[in-house]
Amino acid sequence: MSDRPVVTRIAPSPTGAMHIGTARTALFNWLYARHTGGKYLLRVEDTDRERSTAESVKVIFDGLGWLGLGADEEPVFQAARAERHALAVEAMLARGGAYRDYMTPEELEAERTLARAEGRVVRSAWRDRTPNDAPDRPFVVRLKAPVTGETVIDDQVKGKVTFQNKDLDDLILLRTDGTPTYNLAVVVDDHEMGITHVIRGDDHLNNAARQTLIYQGLGWDAPIWAHLPMIHGPDGAKLSKRHGAQAVGEFADMGYLPEALRNYLAKLGWGHGDDEIFSDEQAIAWFDIKDVVGAPARLDWDKLNHLNNHYIRQAEVDRLTALVADIHQRRDWRLRDGDLAVLARTIPLVRDGAKTLLDLADATVFALKARPLAMPEKALALLTEETRSRLSRLRERLAAAESWEVPSLETLNRGFAESEGVGLGKFGPALRAALSGGAPAPDLAGAMVALGKAESLGRLDDALSQGV
Ligand code: GLU
Repeated sequence: MSDRPVVTRIAPSPTGAMHIGTARTALFNWLYARHTGGKYLLRVEDTDRERSTAESVKVIFDGLGWLGLGADEEPVFQAARAERHALAVEAMLARGGAYRDYMTPEELEAERTLARAEGRVVRSAWRDRTPNDAPDRPFVVRLKAPVTGETVIDDQVKGKVTFQNKDLDDLILLRTDGTPTYNLAVVVDDHEMGITHVIRGDDHLNNAARQTLIYQGLGWDAPIWAHLPMIHGPDGAKLSKRHGAQAVGEFADMGYLPEALRNYLAKLGWGHGDDEIFSDEQAIAWFDIKDVVGAPARLDWDKLNHLNNHYIRQAEVDRLTALVADIHQRRDWRLRDGDLAVLARTIPLVRDGAKTLLDLADATVFALKARPLAMPEKALALLTEETRSRLSRLRERLAAAESWEVPSLETLNRGFAESEGVGLGKFGPALRAALSGGAPAPDLAGAMVALGKAESLGRLDDALSQGV
């Protein structure tokens, strides 16, 4: 099996939001497939018809797409493969790996009570009967699992995990209505999709034992298993609502960049020495499933914010402009002609302090305000007679400025302060208030560059014609 090209898969159930744990599982499957030059597939496990919804299928596609973890081939839908699952059971019956169990509900209940009293798992008497005895009544098909010996999962992350076969019951493969059960469907699909490595959350470790027995019943090789530790909250408890965001969509809405989340998730259970920041190419080159640690990983918001800030500082300005414009629009801010250009000028000047795209959007609000800006009382109070006449003189110099760049404007402002015989502190705060209307803004020269010359002078004029 190990010399076949690697094929991994992410197999989410579309029953709600896409959990951050699913995103991490997808990432590890993707990294391992890329690292080995293999394939990474997607299977939608939609056999639970009551809980599966088209909307959450879309959530999964959107989430994987946003994360840049779309599959290499068209997705497989598990529910559409029920016939394949039933066919596999036919084959298993033919080779004696499964049997029809005609126990009535009452008989099953009685066996359950007895089994509990004897401290053993449920066993049906039909295991050892010949099909000729078959009565004409509904039946389930059960796996004829071994009752002695051990089933050992040689897990790439957890090491060898041993299950006693006497503790594993003959699980149902087909229900009385002929529909396949979950563990059967997973095995048949993984086999027919050619999956070589099953990499998933360790909440499925027990299923690995059961699925191994199904593989045996079918006479197929089991895949290589790798069960990933859970993601816990910062306090070490199982991740839950009180720890904040859990769904991939929430991280997107909170203004995290997908590459920051990828980098961050890669570090939840895996790492490369002390490296905190690494590219996808580096992660692909370094990743090996054997290096994943078995202990639960803890979510650390400070680290995520640190990484996000790093990637915000690295990102193309055009991309950030579109993302920030989107946030403003979601907040019902109507963007006017020219606002995208304003954003593109402003973003490089304010992004260093932004932990998220929401921070970045907040930091650009000052530049998008429409003239005349409503000046808060405190800002108006700065516009004394003396400051006003000083700012008028500065306005003349600014109007004459040929270059409108941060360094030249800094020089101009400093030169002006000197010529007035005062420090920048004498007029800087008033000027800043005039330019920003009291909203957070970068330094004077930065704010002026973000606004552009005409808007800066216009805002200054507006301020000078208002107030005391
Ligand atoms: N559908 C399962 C889940 O969403 C995953 C099963 C598997 O990976 O085998 O937890």
